[in-house]
Amino acid sequence: MRSAAWSQRKKHILPLVRRKQKLDTCISGLTRGDSEKFTLPARKADAVKAFEGFNTAVRAIIDMPQNELSKWAVFDTCVYPVPTFIRGRVCISGDAAHAAATYHGTGASFAVEDAAVLAQLLSTADEYTESHDVENGGISKPNLLRKSLETYNSIRLERAHWLVETSRHIGKIYQGQNAEVGVDSTKCAQEIDWRCRKIWHYDVNQMTRETKELFTKQLETV
Ligand SMILES: Cc1cc2nc3c(=O)[nH]c(=O)nc-3n(C[C@H](O)[C@H](O)[C@H](O)COP(=O)(O)OP(=O)(O)OC[C@H]3O[C@@H](n4cnc5c(N)ncnc54)[C@H](O)[C@@H]3O)c2cc1C
Repeated sequence: MRSAAWSQRKKHILPLVRRKQKLDTCISGLTRGDSEKFTLPARKADAVKAFEGFNTAVRAIIDMPQNELSKWAVFDTCVYPVPTFIRGRVCISGDAAHAAATYHGTGASFAVEDAAVLAQLLSTADEYTESHDVENGGISKPNLLRKSLETYNSIRLERAHWLVETSRHIGKIYQGQNAEVGVDSTKCAQEIDWRCRKIWHYDVNQMTRETKELFTKQLETV
């Protein structure tokens, strides 16, 4: 899959092209605040008009869809982030915990990162119950679950909230609305680059190793 982005103030387009030049997905964004609905029907003529100031490549892409279009509103948890992902033996993960705007295209992978941490913790908790007897001072299963989720929260909260924040940030850059970088393409590219690398180059194996180490240490202090 390859992609490129074109942007103007309050407008951008990000077509994703698969091999053989087949257009897979086209995400185009317009900054508007005229509806509280999640989706609205859209007319191709409106899209063509909105992107008429772009180059011929973009106009050709906008002209491609044959079917009905729809406009999707973008909501996130940036303004009201949850203070914690856990309560007792219950946790939230994925979008329920950290819904991000779509501009990084990575919300699902963060949900997978959450799941990797939870899987590691449950497996470590399972090993613990096999080698520790509750009647001889071992931790009970409900308490073990509580402790697992506390570790989950401490490992995931900061990075997940960062995703929500950076997704908004990058959306503003795409649409020339970031005061610091403005429409300077070099600065925009640099800003997008380090943020994407923090997502792409994250070492998930290292994260699960640290999760196990931290949880094991916490169990030893009980
Ligand atoms: C346009 C768009 C493009 C995206 N592109 C990408 C991308 O390229 N890469 C990427 O990684 N991420 C992308 N994402 C983000 C990704 O889709 C989400 O981050 C991901 O789906 C979150 O997974 P989730 O399991 O947490 O939540 P969801 O996928 O929202 O799953 C929650 C499920 O729970 C169900 N549900 C809700 N309430 C109830 C209930 N009361 N009872 C039973 N079931 C219920 C819902 O129907 C849904 O099936 C994109 C999102 C959008 C909107």
